Order: sequence, then C-alpha cells, then structure tokens
Amino acid sequence: MTTIVKEIRQQFNPACPSECVGQVELMSIEETKAALTVAQEAFEGWKNTSSVARGDILRMMAQLLEENIDIVAETASKEMGKTKNEMIGEVKRGASILRYFAQEGMRSTGEVLPSVSEAKLLYTKRVPLGVIVAITPWNFPVAIPLWKIAPALVYGNTVVWKPSIEVALTGKLLGELFEQAGLPKHVLQVVQGRGSTVGQVLVEAPEVKAITFTGSNGVGQNILNTVGHTKKKIQLELGGKNAAIILADADLDVAARLTVEGAMKQTGQRCTATSRVYIEEAVYEKALEKIIAEAKKIEVGVTMGPVSSKEQYTNILAAIDKAKAEGATLVVGGTATKGKEEGYFIDPTIFTDVNHTMSVACEEIFGPVLAVMKVKDYEEAIKLSNDTEFGLSASIYTTNIQKAFDFIERSEVGLVQVNDETGGAEPQAPFGGMKNSSTGAREQGQAAKEFFTTIKTVTINTR
Ligand code: NAP
Ligand code: MG
Repeated sequence: MTTIVKEIRQQFNPACPSECVGQVELMSIEETKAALTVAQEAFEGWKNTSSVARGDILRMMAQLLEENIDIVAETASKEMGKTKNEMIGEVKRGASILRYFAQEGMRSTGEVLPSVSEAKLLYTKRVPLGVIVAITPWNFPVAIPLWKIAPALVYGNTVVWKPSIEVALTGKLLGELFEQAGLPKHVLQVVQGRGSTVGQVLVEAPEVKAITFTGSNGVGQNILNTVGHTKKKIQLELGGKNAAIILADADLDVAARLTVEGAMKQTGQRCTATSRVYIEEAVYEKALEKIIAEAKKIEVGVTMGPVSSKEQYTNILAAIDKAKAEGATLVVGGTATKGKEEGYFIDPTIFTDVNHTMSVACEEIFGPVLAVMKVKDYEEAIKLSNDTEFGLSASIYTTNIQKAFDFIERSEVGLVQVNDETGGAEPQAPFGGMKNSSTGAREQGQAAKEFFTTIKTVTINTR
C-alpha cells in the first residue's frame, strides 16, 4: 500500500502573523492534470446547457455570496489584510458582476447579416472555446476571479481556476459556493497550489483553449514566452504606475481627498492605485498641504489594513528606502507603523521632490506610497504622466472642460478618469490597460464576450 502525503498550506493573518487562519490541501501535478481532463470531459454537457440556465446558476451564486458575505469578507480580510469593510465592498461588487453576466445568458449571441443572394440566410453565432484557465492574484480575491469565471461560464466554457496561494481559503470558499449554486461537477475546478508548479502545468496544458491571467508583469511575460507561439487565446492584466494630475483650476479639496484615496485605499495594493501625482505649480503648496492632511487622517489598523504578506512588507519598505536614498523628500510616513510591529503595517507614505529618473516615479511599488511632483503647466503634466511603460489608469482634476477632453484624448491609458480617482470600472464597462499593462481583449462588460467566445458564420441556402 502506498500512502499519499498531501502538502498542506497554512494561512496566516498579516495583521498578526502568528495567527493561523486555516489551512488548505495543495494539489499535486497529477491532480492538476486530472482536473484538466475532467474539465475537458465536462465541456460538451455544459456547452449544451441553455445559456439561460447557465445564467440562473450565476444568479444563484450572487445570492449565496450575499448570504455568506460575512464569512467570505472575514476570511479574505484575515488572509490578505484588506479591512473587513473593504472586503464587504468587494464581495458586493462580486455579486453585481455575477448578476451582470447572469443576464448575458439572455442576450443575443449573434447577428443576422444581409447576403448578396436573397436565397441565403447569413448569420453569426457566438460559441464557447472549451477549457479556460484562470490565474488570479491575491489583491482582489473575490472580484477578479468572478469577473473571469462568470463570463467564461455563462458563454459555455468550463474553467480551471488557480487562485493565488495567498488567498487559498477564499478560493476554496468560492468554489464551494459555486457548487451549492448548482454548478455541475467539473465545470469549475479550483486548483490550489503554487504558480511555479501547478500554474505552469495549467498554462502549458494542450487541452486549454484560453488563459486569462491577472498579476505581475514578470509572470505575465513568462506566460507569453511559454505559450505565445501556440493558438491559445491569452489575456493578461498586469501592473500599473497610475498618474493623477491636479490643475490650478481644480477643486483642491476634492482633488486631495481622491488622490489620497486613490493612493492609499486597500493599502495601495491595487493595480489601479494612484502612485504619482503632478500638481500645477500655481497651487502646488496648497494642494500638497491638503494631500498631507488627508493622508494623516488615515488610521493604520482601522481604516487602512496591513500589506498582504511578509514579502510585500519587505519589498515596500525596501522601495521606500530606495526613494530616500535616491534623494526624494519624505513628507509623510516612510516606515513600518510604530506600535504595530507585530503585523505587516506600513504608514501611508508621501514623497516630494521626485524626478522621473527615480524608481519611486517609474516602478510599481504596490503599497501605500505616493510620489508628488510639481509641474509648470498642463503640457508638462500630460507629457510626464505618459512617460511610463504602463498604461492602466489615469486621472485629471480640473474644472476646465477643454483640458479634460484633451486629457481624455492624449492620456495613454485604458481607464481615464476626470475628477475621480484612478480606480477601476463597473461590471458593465470594459476594464484593461494600454502599453505594458495589458495584452488581449478587455475584461468585463460586452468586451468579455470577445475573449470567452469565438464566432461561427453560418450560411443557409434556403432554396
Ligand atoms: P503574481 O505574483 O504575478 O501572481 C499572480 C498569479 O500567477 C498567482 O496566482 C501566482 O501563483 C501565479 N503564478 C506565479 N508564477 C506562475 C507561473 N510561472 N505560471 C503560472 N502562474 C503563475 O501577482 P500577485 O503578486 O499575485 O499580484 C500583484 C500583481 O498583480 C501586481 O503587479 C498588480 O499590478 C497586478 N494586478 C493587475 C491587475 C490588473 O487588472 N491589471 C489587477 C490586480 C493586480 P502563486 O502566487 O499562488 O504562486
Ligand atoms: Mg507575487
């Protein structure tokens, strides 16, 4: 008799790393391959289930998610540090993503086109792709997986999902809720394990028709290098270095509040976080003063959670030290939170006197760090805001309608905000970036259909 020893992973609370929150069994490479095989087998049945019925399951999942909001929010909050309130907001967003895509089951899946011959009926039909692999990060442990899984399922694909190991318990919970919602066996499978092992197997598997990935540029590039030469569809949502511009005519109270919210919400661990702000020199001192005041209102441990892991903690503190060493001036924070050293707490941090050769102006830090820069005018601001490899999101704060429209045209990003923070979009709107921030079709909204389906063009000679 052979005994199979399973690898167990324990999860710890970043607010109190000695507290074990729970544990999960990790899957072996063999189990991962088996999951792909059964996903392939389940495809035929799921594809032939009416899309209305598929949508009903998503609607049921939305209801279950709301009924279990407390446990899901609590689990994720304890696993990755986001405050419970932030997590409750995310779970609600998850339910609305599910309801939006549930309705897709009732919407048109093709169009009738005119033909050169009046005897011919010419139409298109959207069809599913097959087995989809979804690989997700830890920073939105509910919303990101759902905005991939929900459209993939409603359009008739089966899904093998690898959540980040950092949020494995939340991933397990979501998998169980989908089962309770009535999803047939093997239509969605949660593969628990590390990216470098099981993630790599999922990416390379020949039965996989498409890979939807959100995470870092390094891993995204690795996926491209591994399967870019194949016919697999690839969608990558990667990093950001999102800029905000505050013009002299802006409402400075609003601009300062939203800039700080954009930078510090979720402890700065959002791909759409504001990490640079350009302020027109005429209002520089005034705006900076208000930004500092807003940052000082944040209560670490109450309104702002810890960063998600020891790795994040070490990397963010190192990035802060590098900014200091490169000559940026620290005006707020800049250290681990005093008196909270038992957890991975970092103070909201703001640097001024930043120039574009400094790492704090160009590299994604993914923590509560904001770089402030003074600019002569709008022209200099737009030029500098576009001076980055990334292109996810950008904001302008202004009351000048011409400048707002000019910014909408010239800003090299996928998500443009006027008088709002650099955050993401609602479920019915496409989400994604330009330049090195994204590859492939946009996520969410009607754009999701582009990625998760392919088209059959049908011609019927009726005579
Ligand atoms: P990450 O380190 O790239 O990991 C993302 C996922 O990829 C995880 O599930 C990870 O597994 C897996 N993975 C790692 N190596 C892999 C490999 N060789 N093959 C297949 N999968 C692999 O990113 P993260 O640290 O979780 O998240 C932070 C990053 O995500 C930031 O750069 C942020 O900007 C980006 N992000 C982008 C968006 C967007 O929409 N543009 C949204 C949110 C976050 P394990 O970690 O479990 O081993
Ligand atoms: Mg990582």
